[in-house]
Amino acid sequence: MDILESPAAMQSWRRAHPGTLGMVPTMGYLHEGHLALVRRALAENDAVAVSIFVNPTQFAANEDLDKYPRDEPRDLAMLQAAGVAAVYLPTPAGMYPEGYQTYVSVEDVTRPLEGASRPTHFRGVTTVVTKLFNAVLPDRAYFGRKDGQQLRVIQRMAIDLDSPVEIVPCDTVREPDGLAMSSRNVYLSPEQRAAAPVIYRALVAAREVFADGLRDVATLRESVYAAIASEPLGAIDYVSVADALTLEELDGVVGRPALLSVAVRFGATRLIDNIELG
Ligand code: AMP
Repeated sequence: MDILESPAAMQSWRRAHPGTLGMVPTMGYLHEGHLALVRRALAENDAVAVSIFVNPTQFAANEDLDKYPRDEPRDLAMLQAAGVAAVYLPTPAGMYPEGYQTYVSVEDVTRPLEGASRPTHFRGVTTVVTKLFNAVLPDRAYFGRKDGQQLRVIQRMAIDLDSPVEIVPCDTVREPDGLAMSSRNVYLSPEQRAAAPVIYRALVAAREVFADGLRDVATLRESVYAAIASEPLGAIDYVSVADALTLEELDGVVGRPALLSVAVRFGATRLIDNIELG
């Protein structure tokens, strides 16, 4: 497994490995959710490159950049065992040197949901993903549905910028009790960890009443709200029923594919999850 730290080194590795390349962008502290993306990429490409970069431009000043969990030796051992060919490990100073001033920003689909409480977040994400694509030069890039808005923002960016990279969505990997795997789950206290599966239970219950024919958006939203609010350790940031592609909030009835998504705080830890309706 080769480790590349600069864009020039990464690009020359790519030129020396001309088969199809799948890429999995990550912020490290890897778990089974990341590895599921890696395995899918391995199955669909001649080789796989994984990037590990905790991207400062997608964190606001009050967020968890400094304490974001990191374990590079463990991540590298997991990727080596999985059969990854290259790991791109850029540094913050290499990515954003003095004088840096170029950003990629996607408009409407970045505004609701995560964008409402994290207004500079997606500009950081789309900028870093563009830079990662330019260094790694993959044919396909694999993203988790767990970060549902991020996936839509990146799909929109790839279409709008005529990107040659195919964006491949991958299903959310969950703990046995339903909690979506996340590097941030490590922040949860044992009590919070025990309470957090309420999120997925609420989403699944709403999907079941939807499957039984309930289409009223307000009732669906309120059922999720009430289910999560029954758990006193969780503080709801939002419960949304939105158009599955544009993420515009729906009202009235669900008449087209929708994304039911939530953000819930357990103490200082903010968890997001979603499920598709229809
Ligand atoms: P992160 O390291 O959290 O930035 O995530 C890197 C990639 O892994 C993103 O595309 C995430 O959506 C994806 N990912 C994170 N957690 C999961 C999960 N539980 N299931 C599937 N994909 C995930």
